[in-house]
Amino acid sequence: MLWEGEEAKGHAVCLPFPAQGHINAMLKVAKLLHSKGLHITFLHTQSNHDRLFFAGHHHQPTSFRFEPVPADITLDHPLIHGPLRQPTRSLLERLMSATPPPTCIVADVFMSFSLELAAELGLPHAFLCPVSPCGFMGFLHYKDLMDRGIVPLTSESDLTNGYLETVIDWIPGMKNIRLRDLPSYFRTTDRNDCLMNFCRDEAQAALRASAIIVHTFEDLEHAVLDALSSILPPVYPIGPLDLLLSQIPDRESIEPIRSSLWEEDSSCIDWLEGREPGSVMYVNFGSIANLTIQQLTEFAWGIANSGCGFLWVIRPDIVKGEPEPAALPAEFLAETSRRGLVTTWCRQEDVLGHPSVGGFLTHCGWNSTMEAVSVGVPLICWPVLAEQQTNCRYLCDEWGMGLEIGEDVRRGEVEEKIRELMGGEKGVEMRKNAIKWKESACRAAGPGGKSSLHLERLLKDVIFSR
Ligand code: UDP
Repeated sequence: MLWEGEEAKGHAVCLPFPAQGHINAMLKVAKLLHSKGLHITFLHTQSNHDRLFFAGHHHQPTSFRFEPVPADITLDHPLIHGPLRQPTRSLLERLMSATPPPTCIVADVFMSFSLELAAELGLPHAFLCPVSPCGFMGFLHYKDLMDRGIVPLTSESDLTNGYLETVIDWIPGMKNIRLRDLPSYFRTTDRNDCLMNFCRDEAQAALRASAIIVHTFEDLEHAVLDALSSILPPVYPIGPLDLLLSQIPDRESIEPIRSSLWEEDSSCIDWLEGREPGSVMYVNFGSIANLTIQQLTEFAWGIANSGCGFLWVIRPDIVKGEPEPAALPAEFLAETSRRGLVTTWCRQEDVLGHPSVGGFLTHCGWNSTMEAVSVGVPLICWPVLAEQQTNCRYLCDEWGMGLEIGEDVRRGEVEEKIRELMGGEKGVEMRKNAIKWKESACRAAGPGGKSSLHLERLLKDVIFSR
């Protein structure tokens, strides 16, 4: 831990991709580096910087600074690098004459322009891959999939005519993968589709990097990690980040450094206190996914009809184009008010770690997945976009701790899956597997564990190499 007034051993500049999940993973890495004696400068886009302060997150010790990059960008368009590059360069140049000056850059793997900036400034550089390695392997093969003419789709009907069931048996480290299990951005008929090309190009840029930090642990994704290591520069699996963070002595002093872009409702923890152990289904679709009113309604009645206690977090903007906050049927709220709580944003890690929570209905974002693995909570999976499909496939088929709900969500299936997870035989099996993975994760992140050793290796090879 770097104490106030103590001389820093180095200065890491952290550059996350400006979306909530990416920011959260980067903040955890930044806290780990701070605990190893590094001064931290954490860059946010101006709008995210403003939102964090608006959401009440003001805490920053002098050795852990947030700096806004003065660029006007929105995430509606993936081509954010254009407007971000120059202001980031100017900010870095200014920091070079600060005390202490930067000694390394850690950037999100979807911020490839940071490679050139690091080279110009002569600083060691590491990428952080905050998406799953299995999903990133998919992104890495977008180029091959395009070169072989497998994607983009030739017609919209490929989405429903069985084409997505095509088995892709040549991606190293990935067995029994179907096209539908790969990250979703190839589901277009436009060869020039922005997101598909952005993901292909960013993944290819990782081949030029000198180090890649991945948020996983060896035992969870052995085959994929082996394959990635043979393609990419040195790979450092240092997950689950939460569990590594929990090893830091005096971590209370960095705990208040937060990164939620929404205001957190802490009353849901009080509500959980009053529930039976393992009785609550926690429902949350993350920071980006949008649902239609019909999908929201199907989930609502499926949850209600399951009879299960639930905590449902619904972002105010979850239904695109509708007035905020998204409206649930009044009959649903009346019927479930004694056994359910609906709110807009929570401290997810605290919720998942609460003993009352017995299951997690999720969109399978990678942070959410790793947070659930860390505490051994089984999941019901409804992947929406990005590599969530891949995560779902691994959760259900490889790790045995997930149960998938079909894309075309229906209340009957939601009810059935919740009953199965919370009370059925399959649920018992999934819970056992979830606990097994949690134990494995704890071993990896514990003293002398593989993730702890990879972190030491990362410090020696890259972070303190200057
Ligand atoms: N999160 C949170 N409170 C919420 C919903 C999400 O703190 O009510 C956090 C969650 O813990 C995770 C991140 O937001 O760290 C979401 O990232 P993820 O990769 O799971 O999904 P995304 O939002 O990128 O789709």
